[in-house]
Formats: sequence, structure tokens, C-alpha cells
Amino acid sequence: MANRVPRETFLKSLRYLTSATASSSSPSAAVAAAVSPLIVTSDDADLSERPRSSRSDALLNLDDYEKLFATVPTAKLVRASANLQASAIEPLVDFGIRLMKSRLMEMEVVRDIILGTIRHTFYEHFCAGEDAEAAGRTVLRLRETGIRGMLVYALEYATENDACDRNLDGFIRTVQSTKSLPSSSTSFIIVKITAICPMRVLERVSDLLRWQHKDPSCHLPWKLNSFPLFSDSSPMYHTLKRPEPLSPEEERDLQLGHERLLKLCRECAEANVPLSVDAEHTAVQPAIDYLTYASAIMRNKGSYPIVYGTIQAYLKDAKERLLLASEAADKMGIPMGFKVVRGAYMSSETKLANSLGCDSPIHNSIQETHDCYNDCASFMLDRIANGSGGLVLATHNVESGKMAAAKAHDVGIGKVNQRLEFAQLYGMAESLSFGLKNAGFQVSKYMPFGPIDMVMPYLLRRAEENRGLLSASTVDRQLMR
Ligand SMILES: Cc1cc2nc3c(=O)[nH]c(=O)nc-3n(C[C@H](O)[C@H](O)[C@H](O)COP(=O)(O)OP(=O)(O)OC[C@H]3O[C@@H](n4cnc5c(N)ncnc54)[C@H](O)[C@@H]3O)c2cc1C
Repeated sequence: MANRVPRETFLKSLRYLTSATASSSSPSAAVAAAVSPLIVTSDDADLSERPRSSRSDALLNLDDYEKLFATVPTAKLVRASANLQASAIEPLVDFGIRLMKSRLMEMEVVRDIILGTIRHTFYEHFCAGEDAEAAGRTVLRLRETGIRGMLVYALEYATENDACDRNLDGFIRTVQSTKSLPSSSTSFIIVKITAICPMRVLERVSDLLRWQHKDPSCHLPWKLNSFPLFSDSSPMYHTLKRPEPLSPEEERDLQLGHERLLKLCRECAEANVPLSVDAEHTAVQPAIDYLTYASAIMRNKGSYPIVYGTIQAYLKDAKERLLLASEAADKMGIPMGFKVVRGAYMSSETKLANSLGCDSPIHNSIQETHDCYNDCASFMLDRIANGSGGLVLATHNVESGKMAAAKAHDVGIGKVNQRLEFAQLYGMAESLSFGLKNAGFQVSKYMPFGPIDMVMPYLLRRAEENRGLLSASTVDRQLMR
């Protein structure tokens, strides 16, 4: 009771910030735009009717902050808010990013001071701890609020097999650490294929897979059974001429990469926690999908998937590829899981396409991305309602969250359904996470962990993404990270 008054005042100030920002022109327009008619199926079209919006508001109450954050201590709210406000100050973020990338970081004293500051602010805000044990403790604390954890050993890409082997050990230790946690407190283990298979091999394999799509007579002797990787609208500009076949050494590296993924799948199956493969950039995504689908065909045996792939809705071919892969999985009787995201490599994708004089693979407008995301979600929710596969809706977009919650309700998906998970990044979009959780859905946080040096690239991406925070469309997510 002692902290009730300050807490109420604090929550009111959050409300003030929300409405102040939401009423500014472009953000609210962007939010409103996100609920405009969807473009593909007639089923989807009725998601955009006005009454749906008020019904979804009723399902997902994000306005009652007292109720929303009832399980979060006030001190944590204040600290989170301070971090968020800091990451909203663009000059500060720009300065921080420049400093992190500068040669000053080579000076030990400067480096220690900077990393020390980051550790007690952004690192503690966005990361789950230095190692699997610390991350496990964070998962336990999160569990007290009714939210689960997706454990992300935050490794970046590897270039050599030795590094891939070390990375695999780290992923396996992560899986094993979940065995000492209460069951279902960890919803997923996350893996980046570029950390367990050398980047150059993934590029070469992607080239060859693309070429085979263009010219089906191109024989790939190493290719295993997979779901379709491309649609007619998939970008082919990365591969302008016929690639050389894989050398024996490259074939061996590919096989080693696949064996590492299969080993991880086996560990996950034993620990009874599914594995979700992150999507990366289009230069390597065909190979990532290929390894994911080939592994799913081998490992997704029961009625629930062990291996999940990721679809990036900002790509023009996303919906078609999702449909093709799902259809193929059905035909083979394989339960397939998908995480649906908007996509995080926008500037590098556009830069590459522009440099080659080609159209960007990313939708021409953000509205098309919103529509595609909501379409993919709607398509997958219908499948889940029919008892097929698994779905992670990974988004901070409030309208996408509301629409999906309403659709799930309409198609009769029980809220605590093992096949459906909503997810947000740890430290972000707290109000959406708690709103969904309070509405009874399963919600997870994507929780990167590792030593501060290792997670620095991840933190820099967060800083870039959060710049101009309070002027972006999804106001709600910004307040409580
Ligand atoms: C749990 C989780 C897992 C994730 N895993 C992955 C992953 O595996 N791979 C991956 O790539 N990303 C991943 N992400 C990041 C994700 O792709 C997004 O970058 C992030 O979540 C923001 O999108 P949003 O759905 O939250 O939507 P919003 O908050 O509405 O953000 C939309 C953003 O999309 C961008 N955008 C997209 N298309 C366009 C366009 N055509 N024009 C202009 N802007 C556009 C804008 O920058 C805008 O800020 C993950 C996110 C979460 C929460």
C-alpha cells in the first residue's frame, strides 16, 4: 500500500505520454492504417470491419495500466521507463552508436567505462544475463508475471567450422539449462543458422538453390527433401550467372552444418522444448529455409512441431512462400511451425537491391507490410484452428496483436493453446505482452543472453530500431520496455 500513490501517479503519467503521442498526426495515422482492409482472402477481409476493431479492443485491454502492470514492481517500471526515455533521445543514441563503433573503444579505460555504463542500463534492460544460468534466473522471475521465455544465446555469424562447433556447444548448453527450470517456463530455444554453418557456404547454397529454381534441370546431388523455398515472385538478383557446383569441401561443410542443426533438434526434442530458427537476410535465407525444412521433415514427427521456421512479412514473396511451404508440409503429413515477423534487415536489403539496380524485395509501403503480416497471421490462425502446425506471432504492433487476438477468438482457438504463442523482445512492448497475457493467451519474451561484448551487435540493432521511439506508431510498446 505504501507505494500505491506514487505508482498510480506514475501510471497516469504513462497514460499521459501515450495519449499525447498517439494523438500526434503520423503515429496515429500509422496505427489506423495498420487496420485497413487486408488484401488476400475473403476471410481476411472481414478482419478489417469496424466492429471487429471494437471487439478486439474489448478482448485486449491496453488502457488500464494499473491492471496491465499489476505484477510488475514499481521500481522496475520506473527504471524501465528511464531506459526507454533515454533510448528515445536520438542525438544520444546517435552519439552512443558512433562511440561504440569508434577507435576509442580500443582504449581499455574508455572501453571499461562505456561497457560499464551500458551494462547497468541497456544491457540489463534488453538482455537476460551473462550466461545460461543467469538467463534461467531471469526466466524464473518472468514466470512470476505469467510470461514465458524464448532463450536466445546471442551469437552472431561464424566463418569457420571450429567456431560453428563452439557455437553449437553454447546452444546445447542452453537447451540443457532448461531442464532445471519449471516445465514450460521456456517456450522456445532460438538459433541463428549463420552461427552454426559458415556464412560463405550458406551463400553458395542459396545461389545454387536459386539457380535450380530458375533452371530445374540444374542437378544438386546433395539436396535433401525440403518444402518449396521460392515462389514466382521471389527475388533472383543475387544469382546472375550459373554458380559452380559445390566443391567436396563445401559439400562437407554443408553436411556438418546440417548435422549441427539436427543435433540441436534432438537435444530440444529430449528437453521437450521446440527450436525456432531465426530468419536473416535474403542472400542466405534460401539456405536457412532449406536446412530448416529438411530438418523439420526429419524431426517433426508427433502432432506438435519441434522445428519452427520464420517468415518475414516485409518481403514481397512472404505470403506465397508461407502458403507453398504449408501446403507441402500438409501433403507430407509434417506438422510445421512458423514464427511470423515483419523483418529486421530492411536497410541492408534495400541497399543491396539498389546497388544491383533491382527492385527492393521489401514491400513498397509500410502499409503493404502491415497487410502482409496480418494476412500471414490470419492464414496461420485458420490452420491452427484446424489443429495443424504451430504459430508464433512475433510483433510489437498493437493493431496486429489485437487483430490476431480477435481472429483467434473467432476461429475458436482456445487461448492457452500449445500451438499459438505471442512474442515480443525482452524489454520491449511490455503493455502488449501483458495485455495479451491478461486476455489469457500464451506470451513469451525473446531473451538474448551472453557476455556484454557478444550481445553488443544485438544492442546496437535495438538502439537503431528504437531511435525516435516516442514518435513511432506503436506507442504502446515504447512506454514500458
Ligand atoms: C519475438 C521476436 C522474434 C523476432 N525474430 C526475428 C527474426 O527471426 N528475423 C527478423 O528479421 N526479425 C525478427 N524480429 C524483428 C522483427 O522482424 C521486427 O524488426 C520488429 O519486431 C518490428 O516489427 P513489428 O512487427 O514489431 O512491427 P512495428 O512495431 O509496427 O514495426 C514496423 C517496422 O517495420 C519496418 N518496415 C517494414 N516494412 C516496411 C516498409 N515496406 N516500409 C517502411 N518500413 C517498413 C519499419 O521500420 C517499422 O518501424 C523478431 C521480433 C520479435 C518480437
